[in-house]
Amino acid sequence: MKEKIRKIENEVEKLLKNSKTLEDIEGIRIKYLGKKSELSNLLKSLKNLTQEEKKEIGPLANNARKNIHSKIDKKKELLEENFDAETEWIDVSAPGNEIKKGSLSPLSIVQQDIENIFTAIGFEVADGPEIESEYFNFDGANMPANHPARDMQDTFWIKTDSGDGNGQVLRTHTTNCQVRYMQTHTPPFRIIVPGRVFRQEATDASHEHTFHQFEALVVGKNVSVANFLSVAKSFFSAFFGKDISVRVRPSYFPFVEPGFEFDISCTNCGGKGCSTCQQTGWLEIGGAGMVHQNVLVEGGYKRDEYTGFAWGFGLERLAMMKYKINDIRLFHSGDTRFGKQF
Ligand SMILES: [Zn+2]
Repeated sequence: MKEKIRKIENEVEKLLKNSKTLEDIEGIRIKYLGKKSELSNLLKSLKNLTQEEKKEIGPLANNARKNIHSKIDKKKELLEENFDAETEWIDVSAPGNEIKKGSLSPLSIVQQDIENIFTAIGFEVADGPEIESEYFNFDGANMPANHPARDMQDTFWIKTDSGDGNGQVLRTHTTNCQVRYMQTHTPPFRIIVPGRVFRQEATDASHEHTFHQFEALVVGKNVSVANFLSVAKSFFSAFFGKDISVRVRPSYFPFVEPGFEFDISCTNCGGKGCSTCQQTGWLEIGGAGMVHQNVLVEGGYKRDEYTGFAWGFGLERLAMMKYKINDIRLFHSGDTRFGKQF
């Protein structure tokens, strides 16, 4: 047994001499001092020896254990002091790994701008469902079943057109919120409704099946086209940060009477004519008009008691103008290089 102890001590000594890393040392510690090591087993077996033998071997084994312990500690200290500066150095001034951050979509930025401008002049921001009943999307907006205007919009139907207003659609415009809001509010009120809308359309550089609109709706006594022109001029001037003129052209939308398309003076040339506005000096923006009395009646008001104006624009179109983006499909491309530019 004495032999065995001496052999273990020699082995450890040899291994320590050749070890070069802290991992080596840890391996030696586990192998020679661990619970399952030869030395531990030997110490456990002492109880089977005679009293005499115990007196002789016991202290020897314990000393060996202590020796190995202190030799390992010493070697460890030595290695820690003399670490290899060539391979184990740390450059504390090196830049860390970049943590990639996401960015706001230009649509979110534009929507926030719009909300800030409108809430500052007393508008409320309203909301409504994207999956909408046929009634609020069409009938309430003066487009009953078989109304030819329903053909103007290619609709995603969730539950097919039943003709009684009980079908379900992905809303084709934010106009679905007009009658919804009217039914629970009494004029006068001023709201904007920014939101996602859906059309069954083939996509190209200027068309998407999923896009965003923002609706403006003002209802009260004696609200006129002049009010609309004034709000539109103030909004676009604030949005583009320069003086913008507005003009309207007669048009037709079922939920307004009269209805108009409207244009703003070119944000690029200010109206002189350039390639952006195809030398006309004007840019088409969207549709607007005086709220049809049929819509106000659906909202629960007496015919001719109130008047109002409404408009609907594409948020994408505004963002494309503001940031000179040339393809609407980029908004949903998920390309982070696109989002980072704004
Ligand atoms: Zn121009």
